[in-house]
Amino acid sequence: MSYQYAQVIVNTKARSDSGSFTYQIPVDLYSKVGIGVLVTVPFGRRIEYGIIYQLSKKLPNPSLGIIKSIDSVVFQSPVLSATQLKLSDYIADYYFCSLGQATFAMVPGFILSSIEKIYLPYNLPSPLRFTAKQKQIYQFVKNQQQEVTDDLLAKHFDFRYASILNNLIKKKVLSVHYRLSAPKSKPKYQEILSINYSAVTDETLQKLPSKPRQWDIFLFLEENPNSSWSDVRKSLKVSRASLNTLIKQNIVAVIKQRYFRTPTEESDRLSISGSPSLFPTQQEIVDNIIANFDHPPKPYFIFGRTGSGKTEIYLRLVEYALSKGKDVIILVPEIALVPQTMQRFYERFGDLISIYHSQMSVGEKYDQWSRMRDGSVKVVIGSRSALFAPLKNIGLIIIDEEHESSYKQDSTPRYHTVTVAEEYARLLSAPLVIGSATPRLETFWRAKKNIYQSFTIKQTIPEMICPYYVRQTEFHVVDLRDEYIAKNYSLLSYRLQVEIAAALQARRQIILFLNRRGHASYVFCRECGYVARCPNCQISLTQHIYAHSPRLICHHCGFFSGNLTQCPDCLSRAIKYYGAGTEKLEEDIRQFFPTARVLRMDRDTTRQKNAHSQIFNQFKNHAADILIGTQMIAKGWDIPNVDLVGIINADAAFHLPDFRSTERNFALLLQLIGRVGRRSQGTGKIILQTFETENPLWNILRQEDYQLFAFSELLERQKNNFPPFFQIVRLVFEHPDYTTCQKESLSLFRQLNEQFSNQSADDLIEIMGPSPCFLEKLHNKFRWHIILKGKKIHQYLKLVPAGWIVDIDPYSIL
Ligand code: ADP
Ligand code: ZN
Ligand code: ZN
Repeated sequence: MSYQYAQVIVNTKARSDSGSFTYQIPVDLYSKVGIGVLVTVPFGRRIEYGIIYQLSKKLPNPSLGIIKSIDSVVFQSPVLSATQLKLSDYIADYYFCSLGQATFAMVPGFILSSIEKIYLPYNLPSPLRFTAKQKQIYQFVKNQQQEVTDDLLAKHFDFRYASILNNLIKKKVLSVHYRLSAPKSKPKYQEILSINYSAVTDETLQKLPSKPRQWDIFLFLEENPNSSWSDVRKSLKVSRASLNTLIKQNIVAVIKQRYFRTPTEESDRLSISGSPSLFPTQQEIVDNIIANFDHPPKPYFIFGRTGSGKTEIYLRLVEYALSKGKDVIILVPEIALVPQTMQRFYERFGDLISIYHSQMSVGEKYDQWSRMRDGSVKVVIGSRSALFAPLKNIGLIIIDEEHESSYKQDSTPRYHTVTVAEEYARLLSAPLVIGSATPRLETFWRAKKNIYQSFTIKQTIPEMICPYYVRQTEFHVVDLRDEYIAKNYSLLSYRLQVEIAAALQARRQIILFLNRRGHASYVFCRECGYVARCPNCQISLTQHIYAHSPRLICHHCGFFSGNLTQCPDCLSRAIKYYGAGTEKLEEDIRQFFPTARVLRMDRDTTRQKNAHSQIFNQFKNHAADILIGTQMIAKGWDIPNVDLVGIINADAAFHLPDFRSTERNFALLLQLIGRVGRRSQGTGKIILQTFETENPLWNILRQEDYQLFAFSELLERQKNNFPPFFQIVRLVFEHPDYTTCQKESLSLFRQLNEQFSNQSADDLIEIMGPSPCFLEKLHNKFRWHIILKGKKIHQYLKLVPAGWIVDIDPYSIL
């Protein structure tokens, strides 16, 4: 007996008790269904996508009433594995979302958007009574030689046919079939050319030199057999006609080959090289992980600075996994997915690698996804969503820089990649290896509590290689209050000016860090205190100067307006610009050091694809002396010639009302100052400008001791009942109307508070709020939140009505 019923996970935020919905399987689909198969099902009044979760021969619950039937199988090969379906159970439970939301978060967006519908006619026994338009459509579908798609229909009919079409489908006059089409991302083919020596005779050869272009192609292919036509064309600048003649004469043979677009250049993917022998610390970690490779007892955490050889450990583990026939997922922050860092992986593993991240085009993603599915890729390196890569036999998951904010998804399901990866690795019985120099305090704590097996690497590779190697840095704290007293109103303190001049003199490079874009971040009226704010977000507008004309821009939603010269409230002209950003810094630098070559890296200068790596390359090749930037410049780079790091305003970001802001900013500054003094030549200098010289953090920063920082910050977290000591859940309500927000929040608060009073000690220990969020209005909606702290909060979430955003373990509470 075949399976007659299916539990289907429907792509909806609606929840059912079991998470899935029961459907009947029509007889003609018996042979096509399977676990993980993408189907369409009637749901309410719509047709929705669904994924088959379970099959059964009997009706699972006889009291269900009328059972609808699966509408169609979109494609037969499963889009998700059985393990991934189990993982979605976990995500739905833990992150408090519907099973549909959890499951469809694993299906790449381009799949659903590239599904094409094909309409076919049923053979009708006798002519039905049609309206004129129905008849027109039916006849059209019936008489077409080619496949009838939405595109084709749209081309032929100038009236609105959608509802008529649906009507015909409902009446079983037409049927719909689905298929994954790649038209927007067509597989690309390249033509590989080779000389057909058996067809080359003396006679033909003698004729060739008289046709110089063809002769060029011939010689090129002799030297570079199996070149692609696009390479030949680019190298020789020859036309297709010249090639066609050679093909016609049978001298050149052409083979079409599927071409996989990759986001890196061919030249980056050099020949495969061997791996160096490991240092004892590295070897010990690798041995430890390999010893329990098939049954890892717990996740592994590698705590080590940039340059301590973590990546080399990852590479070795990947090698081992591959030798055991296992596939590997490596997650890195988006920003690290630049060709420079990928090169090392390519050198080791060549085309067994696939890169996958959000900046890729749909076509590129489609290609890489297909390669993963057909098994030609064994290792996927990517950002967050690559955790769900469709590899067949995953045996190792690596997450580098685990503290990066991009690992937390900021739409439902609001999962943290490390949390989900822990469960995934457990289900797969595969090692999970996470690494960082500046872990989240939650991670640091889990390592201390032995929930992770942790390894600490104390030295960097240069220190291991050369025992006499000492990293030398000088660390100076400059009091900005003194600068004001001395009437220095520029962004550069006198000390920093002197150091920049000295570094330029010595032909060394300089990095200046200011974590704010634009020219001025605060535009206000000195007479009445009016502040220019975004009408959609109420965030203060930032002044930017594009092509010499100033504009005010909202950093959140992109709203912009012209410059303000007169106060709209009191009509005063005493408009003041305050709070400088990177643009202003660049201007100051150009004024003080007109001959210095300056580069700026922030979100404004890196909008174009590859801009990021271009700026990086320019700076690395010393085509510029000074690099100005936001947090983008702090990450994982090694530029030996940098001798001076200037932190323009160290305080700014520490004062945000967010429990993680200290951790995040300390990590950022630590990474930044790690950029200097890394070579034996000379001493690295760090100038930190602050209004708060008494802040004890500067001293810890000077010692570059993250452990010390972590312990001191953990005390703060403990005092305030924040993670890792208590879990927090943030409930956010957004609405265009302020009072609705307020009322809704108060009403939920009352309900929560009622439960709060009769519960056990640790389940829920504190309810913060309700209050407006720090970012009080975004995209024209006011935002209110309630924050719950405790050890078993999930039981209270049932009280939260639809419409609220539930953020479990929020990364930020702004
Ligand atoms: P991390 O990932 O911790 O920043 P890397 O693995 O990138 O550290 O190592 C830092 C540098 O040291 C790299 O240039 C790397 O090639 C080199 N390196 C790492 N391990 C070894 C080793 N065992 N032998 C020689 N060089 C090594
Ligand atoms: Zn005013
Ligand atoms: Zn805005």
